[in-house]
Amino acid sequence: MAPVKVTKICCIGAGYVGGPTCAVIALKCPNITVTIVDLNQARVDAWNSPDFKLPIYEPGLEDVVRQARGRNLFFSTDVDKGIEEADLIFVSVNTPTKKSGVGAGFAADLNYVELATRRIAQVATSSKIVVEKSTVPCRTAESMRTILEANSRPGCRFDILSNPEFLAEGTAITDLFAPDRVLIGSLQTEEGISACQSLSDVYANWVPKERILTVGLWSSELSKLAANAMLAQRISSINALSAICEATGANIDEVAHAIGYDTRIGPKFLKASVGFGGSCFQKDILNLVYLSESLHLPEVAAYWRQVVEMNEHQKRRFSKRVVDTMFNTITGKRIAVLGFAFKADTGDTRESAAITLIRDFQSEKAYVNVYDPQVVEDQIWADLTEAQPLVPVDQIKKQVRICSSAMEACRDAEAVVIATEWKEFLDIDWEEVYKTMNKPAFVFDGRLLVDAAKLREIGFKVVTIGRPAP
Ligand code: NAD
Repeated sequence: MAPVKVTKICCIGAGYVGGPTCAVIALKCPNITVTIVDLNQARVDAWNSPDFKLPIYEPGLEDVVRQARGRNLFFSTDVDKGIEEADLIFVSVNTPTKKSGVGAGFAADLNYVELATRRIAQVATSSKIVVEKSTVPCRTAESMRTILEANSRPGCRFDILSNPEFLAEGTAITDLFAPDRVLIGSLQTEEGISACQSLSDVYANWVPKERILTVGLWSSELSKLAANAMLAQRISSINALSAICEATGANIDEVAHAIGYDTRIGPKFLKASVGFGGSCFQKDILNLVYLSESLHLPEVAAYWRQVVEMNEHQKRRFSKRVVDTMFNTITGKRIAVLGFAFKADTGDTRESAAITLIRDFQSEKAYVNVYDPQVVEDQIWADLTEAQPLVPVDQIKKQVRICSSAMEACRDAEAVVIATEWKEFLDIDWEEVYKTMNKPAFVFDGRLLVDAAKLREIGFKVVTIGRPAP
């Protein structure tokens, strides 16, 4: 069976993954028309905005969209037209953790995937290759196939592929330009292998062939969960060691440096911090926990659950250290929180550690000044109110002030908490900051970002993750 030559792609979901991924495909494959569709009108409008005020911040993204939009890259709310015209459809919708019902708090909510799949079946009048881009539990492709086959018109064939996305927010464009690997999973049938070839040919326009890995469908689905679980486990491991460092006098940077020299361990992703955030790590591990429990593997479930629990512990430990250090009370004190995004170079705040820290400081009756270079004010209020459903919004707004610069946030504060590793925090005029703060002036570095020795010379009392109190 000869592979279909893909000329029209539709991506359902114009979010953090669908948007950048398919914009890069359009840029690299000028002969393929790429239409990214979404039900969210505001999001699509932002992707189409004449002054390129895109709905997500990602270094290099604007440049990609500027080059391809209107040429062979289109954004639309017309989901049906996008489906109808395409030969290959990416499903890149959200798969959050279920909030209620069976498996709440652990299982992936596959409602969006199911609705998109049903739409494909109902609308398509010709055969399509359907690609899972969303991160989904193992064997979701089987459910998608059942839905497609049960609802499709006669004569329409659907071949399902898994092509999980490994980009990291903040470096999405460089990750997409030069991925470590592109993973494509298919059924090992003649049709499955042929569909896999069609998608491989798309990526082969810019990705070296040896980096395009083709595997079975279930291996591909599980590999995505496994990759995120292993990355998060590494962070929880180094954070667990940071607690031991603080208690013993060891220095977590030195420990990470020493163990990273072992080629079996390697130096990357060994930075201790206030804890991981983002929309994926926690959700995907919980998904793995749920999967393990469903497969009657309670010990395996408990093993992975511990990675998430360690992360929660790290955040709580950090908040407690702030309170303990500030003479056991922060009531009425002003704390400047620098950074609200879950990591640098993104405006994404999902599961950001800053949200937990601010909630903790508020519950201790502190006042909080927040500054982030990318996160918009509405998002901060939305996150803080969602995190404290029982606290009246007025109360939250009385205790929190959103500032337009780091300098403004630090003025009259008694402590600065670095919650996100934005590079601009390195360039702050710390001497000036010190002058404007109440004394003693504390800096709590949750990202191992600033030069603690230099700040101490200025007069700050500096507390960092993974190092004992000076
Ligand atoms: P997102 O919430 O930013 O975007 C999803 C979009 O899908 C939303 O704009 C939503 O309106 C749209 N949508 C939902 N149902 C739809 C439908 N039926 N028709 C049309 N549009 C619909 O999510 P995201 O961060 O882009 O993540 C998408 C998937 O990729 C998730 O499964 C996630 O786990 C996975 N993933 C995310 C990242 C990341 O860094 N964000 C990385 C790798 C994988």
